[in-house]
Amino acid sequence: MSSISHAIRPTVRAAGRLASRNLVASRASTLPSLTQTRSPLRAFSAIPSRRNGDFPDLTDIPTTPLTHLSEVEVAMKDTVSKFASDVILPKVRDMDEAESMDPAIVEQLFEQGLMSVEIPEEYGGAGMNFTAAIIGIEELARVDPSVSVMVDVHNTLVNTAVMKYGSNALKKKYLPKLATNTVGSFCLSEPVSGSDAFALATKAVETADGFKITGSKMWITNAMEAEFYIVFANLDPSKGYKGITAFVVDKGTKGFSIAKKEKKLGIRASSTCVLNFDDVEVPKENLLGERGQGYKYAIGILNEGRIGIAAQMTGLALGAFENAVKYVWNDRKQFGQFVGEFQGMQHQIAQSYTEITAARHLVYNAARKKEAGEDFVMDAAMAKLYASQVAGRVSGLAVEWMGGMGFVREGLAEKYWRDSKIGAIYEGTSNIQMNTIAKLLQKEYTN
Ligand SMILES: Cc1cc2nc3c(=O)[nH]c(=O)nc-3n(C[C@H](O)[C@H](O)[C@H](O)COP(=O)(O)OP(=O)(O)OC[C@H]3O[C@@H](n4cnc5c(N)ncnc54)[C@H](O)[C@@H]3O)c2cc1C
Repeated sequence: MSSISHAIRPTVRAAGRLASRNLVASRASTLPSLTQTRSPLRAFSAIPSRRNGDFPDLTDIPTTPLTHLSEVEVAMKDTVSKFASDVILPKVRDMDEAESMDPAIVEQLFEQGLMSVEIPEEYGGAGMNFTAAIIGIEELARVDPSVSVMVDVHNTLVNTAVMKYGSNALKKKYLPKLATNTVGSFCLSEPVSGSDAFALATKAVETADGFKITGSKMWITNAMEAEFYIVFANLDPSKGYKGITAFVVDKGTKGFSIAKKEKKLGIRASSTCVLNFDDVEVPKENLLGERGQGYKYAIGILNEGRIGIAAQMTGLALGAFENAVKYVWNDRKQFGQFVGEFQGMQHQIAQSYTEITAARHLVYNAARKKEAGEDFVMDAAMAKLYASQVAGRVSGLAVEWMGGMGFVREGLAEKYWRDSKIGAIYEGTSNIQMNTIAKLLQKEYTN
């Protein structure tokens, strides 16, 4: 363990304590002045929900830019940024070439509190808010989108599912592990069901002691590192998707196996596996939530998770941008001047940064709306759709800005571009996001 991460961890933890108490003053002197005047969390959480038609008196709302972060969130951003550049960056290229995650990084993610951002302190978590998780995911992706997705899936899908739907016994048993040393996977997709997720074929039957699960899951993130799997299976196929139920499966349970680890185009350090469930017996206390509610849980959790992927894509776009502009404005000269000084380059750079900033606004707005208890489904879909498009566009241009140096595997430019492709695929493809957006718009605009 490096001294850096020792230095960071108390900061993140302390930030979590601040968040849970909604205190802001004590660390003010060590943090940027932007946040010193008031708690922006208050500004957002104080806004009554618009769903009730309960519009606030706007004169009561402090004028707060969308990117204005609370002190806790600033601490998160600063510490994760430092951790990513000091600890993760030196390993990024090697992990990509080896197509595997360095176990030491996973250990340090836990030690930093980055695997338990929203888990309450009573369970050993950092006790922070959703936007803090989003900021952490964004900062990690700026350096390595693979590490970012590990943190994203673990926090926004797995931890959220247990916190929201787990019984007290499940929370007591698993949250302390998920907060400190146990990676989780979220197992919904199957060979026969991707976009049409609820056509899944994995079945569960009730037994005297619990349940027996049979089937296969495909493309499961974190599966190699995980020891805790949330598995969706149909307990009553006669009810169609209304039979889908969520279960917790521990690694090592008889009949559970990793059938294959995928070789991928991008995010190669992140494991993606096919899992087999061959009469896997789970005790009845491993039922997650209620029978037949699995499809609702999956929809709700993925709506939140999508904001995480949008943050990942925004961070990726910024990382690709920064990597390239440092080169064109400091290193590479042609025709007697830095190549970034040609107007043809500068316009592309300006356009790209504008798009990254617009993507971030969509992401933060979706996150704030979720925290304010407002309907954020369309916002999350728009954020993911747009951020993944921006990530693809900017990382592709960044390769071109760097010319040959962008194309070789010496630096990270080509990796950002490869990594960007997944943004339009997982947690709902771009077409599926557009279906959601259009469906909600049509509802709003149909007489
Ligand atoms: C690296 C990686 C990690 C993943 N991690 C996980 C994970 O941890 N857990 C998990 O459960 N799943 C995971 N997935 C699965 C992922 O969510 C699916 O790949 C995704 O939902 C798309 O499903 P599909 O691949 O079957 O594509 P398909 O559904 O076969 O889609 C193929 C094409 O058809 C289009 N299409 C499909 N339906 C429609 C429609 N109604 N309208 C318009 N176009 C449509 C799609 O947009 C796409 O372009 C992961 C996938 C990858 C590649």
